Amino acid sequence: MEKKIVIETNADQPRKLPMQGVAQPTREEVLHIPRLHVSAHPVTAHKVTALRDKRTQTPEFYRLVKEIGALLAYEATSTLVLERCDIETPLVPMQGYCLAGGIGVTPILRAGLGLAEGFREVIPDVQIWHLGLRRDERTLQAMEYYNQLPHKVDLQVCYAVDPMLATGGSAIDAINVLKRRGIARLCYVGIIAAPYGVHKLAQTHPDIDIYVAALDEKLNDIGYIVPGLGDAGDRQFGTL
Ligand code: URA
Repeated sequence: MEKKIVIETNADQPRKLPMQGVAQPTREEVLHIPRLHVSAHPVTAHKVTALRDKRTQTPEFYRLVKEIGALLAYEATSTLVLERCDIETPLVPMQGYCLAGGIGVTPILRAGLGLAEGFREVIPDVQIWHLGLRRDERTLQAMEYYNQLPHKVDLQVCYAVDPMLATGGSAIDAINVLKRRGIARLCYVGIIAAPYGVHKLAQTHPDIDIYVAALDEKLNDIGYIVPGLGDAGDRQFGTL
């Protein structure tokens, strides 16, 4: 998919595209990062392929993002901490297991919304904390424009969700914002990652787990993931 961006140029000095000439690590170079988890689930791979297909239209695209969100939620929650709790079955009292502390999901607006819905289908009582970050197309820096995080925090874990881990800028900023809230455990969950974004995120926040459905080859000169799927926000919300 071709993405047009306008970059101002000065007649004498044409401005370089943001990723032009920037060295990028290979897939093999980042695959060993200890906290990177690339899904090996065949159903996830099947759905990601349908998502990448340029013929996939907005309603199906959004449905697939939600379904992949649910599959990734299973993987990313598999190490959550449990505590014993007393209940009564229709037959006898017993001790069961309950999740220790709340679960937060922070969709990075707007592309993260579909993934957050997928998490909700797996854990209906997740707290959804919206965070608006937009990337400046010229510098690829993330800028915060909306922050609706509660003041009181009692979470075991919070997942920052955004489908595309490209340059890593938004993911790094989102984790910075969540760290300032003092949440004990933070994770990033995305659908497709570029090696560059994985490297930057892991280097800046080595203490978080990164869960993705696929690790692609590289970023192009304007910071889009290749082969990727194009613009995840536009394709979910039909704003192409
Ligand atoms: N954001 C997207 O939606 N797609 C990319 O390829 C990179 C960033």
